[in-house]
Amino acid sequence: MSRFFSEKFANLTPYTPGEQPRERRYIKLNTNESPFPPSEKALQAAAEAANNLQLYSDPTCKMLAEKVAERYGISPNEVILVNGSDEVLNFAFMAFCDKTHPAAFPDITYGFYKVFAELHGIPYEEIPLRADFSVSVEDYIGINKTIFIANPNAPTGKTLSPAEIERILVGNPDNVVIIDEAYVDFGGESCVPLIHKYENLLVTQTFSKSRSMAGARLGFGIGCEKLVADLHTIRYSTNPYNVNSMTMAAGYGVMCDEAYTQKNCQTVCENRAFAVAELKKLGFEMTDSKANFIFARHPAIDGGELYTKLKERGILVRHFEKPRISEYNRITVGSRREMEALLEAVRQILEEKK
Ligand code: PMP
Repeated sequence: MSRFFSEKFANLTPYTPGEQPRERRYIKLNTNESPFPPSEKALQAAAEAANNLQLYSDPTCKMLAEKVAERYGISPNEVILVNGSDEVLNFAFMAFCDKTHPAAFPDITYGFYKVFAELHGIPYEEIPLRADFSVSVEDYIGINKTIFIANPNAPTGKTLSPAEIERILVGNPDNVVIIDEAYVDFGGESCVPLIHKYENLLVTQTFSKSRSMAGARLGFGIGCEKLVADLHTIRYSTNPYNVNSMTMAAGYGVMCDEAYTQKNCQTVCENRAFAVAELKKLGFEMTDSKANFIFARHPAIDGGELYTKLKERGILVRHFEKPRISEYNRITVGSRREMEALLEAVRQILEEKK
């Protein structure tokens, strides 16, 4: 740390992204990326947009906002486009949390919530998941805090139904409830239709997973007009050109190729079912994941050891050295071939342990 670093950040522990190694080619099952390339329509649109890079991007994201609005049956004023959904989460912490509106989220969830809360000096409560890693809805009723829930949750992949989320919304009418739907396209049920019923609901989604655009950095938030206007106030006060023009164009392109996205999501779900069934045969215990990852542990091998042995064999998964989940690994669902390679490596590792 330099002697110039602001005192208010001195104790900040930044978020640790999953490894992105460049030194060797791994089968990458550690950051929940799509195994499929971006849509051809996205690539073409981005290439065309590159011809105009001398100009700033459209700060209103007009065309893309209209396209997203059309897809989700909302008005363009009910959506904000952002530089990856991490950005809208950050905006939500800035817009809807402070000392009198502390944040609350599960103890096991997306690690960035805690980092954002600490970055902005916002008090927060981590509400324990039940022993089976489910969210206990009762624990969130009337807590008078700004609530962040990933649905499906990460890294467990477990879901709440929209009816359960409605109970949380009704139980906290004076607080914003943020439902992070980064993984919703792989079998979850979206809460977007509820935004017209609850003015305190903000739903966030991303182009990083189901739309194969993690490297382009594009996400969005959907909520009632006033909530979205608050987020725009934060956006225009930080980075009005937060979405670059190539990404904006690529986003528009993939939204015009919904069949491609749907097909890829279906394949991921099939590959998940295949891998879960095979891992079960090998003795793994897993949560019922509705995301593009599997959360698994094996009674005969520690999570950290399995992670290391897979890495030695060229397969990267994500291990969290954290209480309650250190026995587990989070394994991204890749192509069928990648899943077969994973299973083969796991078989060898378990055989060696005998
Ligand atoms: N929410 C959750 C639960 C995530 O796992 C991620 C991906 N790391 C994000 C949000 C952010 O994704 P992105 O910024 O790529 O949209």
